[in-house]
Amino acid sequence: MSTAIINISSLVTNDPSLGEGPLGLVQDAAVVIDGDRVAWIGESSKAPATDNAVDAGGRAVIPGFVDSHSHLVFAGDRTAEFNARMSGRSYSAGGIRTTVAATRAATDEELEANLTRYLSEALRQGTTTFETKSGYGLTTHDEARALRIAAAHTDEVTYLGAHIVAPEFADDPDGYVSLVTGEMLDACAPHARWVDVFCEKGAFDGDQARAILEAGKRHGLVPRVHANQLGHGPGVQLAVEVGAASADHCTHLTDADVDALAQGTTVATLLPGAEFSTRAQWPDARRLLDVGVTVALSTDCNPGSSFTSSMPFCVALAVRDMGMTPDEAVWSATAGGAAALRRTDIGRLTPGARADLALLDAPSHVHLAYRPGVPLVSAVWRRGVREL
Ligand SMILES: [Zn+2]
Repeated sequence: MSTAIINISSLVTNDPSLGEGPLGLVQDAAVVIDGDRVAWIGESSKAPATDNAVDAGGRAVIPGFVDSHSHLVFAGDRTAEFNARMSGRSYSAGGIRTTVAATRAATDEELEANLTRYLSEALRQGTTTFETKSGYGLTTHDEARALRIAAAHTDEVTYLGAHIVAPEFADDPDGYVSLVTGEMLDACAPHARWVDVFCEKGAFDGDQARAILEAGKRHGLVPRVHANQLGHGPGVQLAVEVGAASADHCTHLTDADVDALAQGTTVATLLPGAEFSTRAQWPDARRLLDVGVTVALSTDCNPGSSFTSSMPFCVALAVRDMGMTPDEAVWSATAGGAAALRRTDIGRLTPGARADLALLDAPSHVHLAYRPGVPLVSAVWRRGVREL
């Protein structure tokens, strides 16, 4: 069955051969969907005949957001920790360990219900593809369980046994690395596409991170790295060295880190929700873009440091505080996320691409930054099916 969405004021295709500028903008456009794919893009007046037509009424359409970094398999809540941090009070609870304890104690059904709740929240804000990670189990059983639950909802599943050292191994971090690269990896690799490590002071150092990523590669997983979020460190250059699809956070970068990203193929994924929610220094997107680094924007949705599922919010932050133009931010939240997941079938609206798109209650994609906090997503199609 084919559907035409007609009278689109401004269509973001992310294909410069189809329209104006890097976003490939087409004015007065139409999109024809056939099955789960985009069949045709062009001027509304030239749209071919279809089974159905939807009148966009002079509003904008963008590709569905690709959220390439989230942590959605968890239980529990860290409101008190956030409230204390934002109220200037010290708080001695265990951070990630609090979520680990709650996640281990939850049933499969509770974890799945929590995941689907945040997925529908994200869909209402235009997200049509998401990546998500384990990392709140930290035992072989609990990590494999998290990945199995995630894999029922997305192809983009990441093994993050190396989120922090499990509490049981507090005195034996190398013993935990052996578990993460041994029995736990054997159990988790069948459910995952990616392997990730939190390479940061207090989590895993460069040598440990390299061992974990290389072990994952031997099991067919592709690396991505939590790198340089809290301070300078080896994460970004390690990500480039091991051929990671993405180095995520990239907040504290040396010139050598920026050079490595500029010369490699690793995408820099920036996660402004984390800096917002921890009142931390913003990543400098301008510095990366100006030397040609591919930049993605994602939510990092997790209950501790960035409890937002909203890609429009991240677009607005990136424009306000990270030196991105509205066009760049929208590209990074769609095509950039697809690049971070090494996907060419999403993050763009071109013939043959997956029919994942969002209709905005606005005449232009620029309104995503111009009207922050306003629920502008008024309809979503995913794989050609209208879901909102
Ligand atoms: Zn993260």
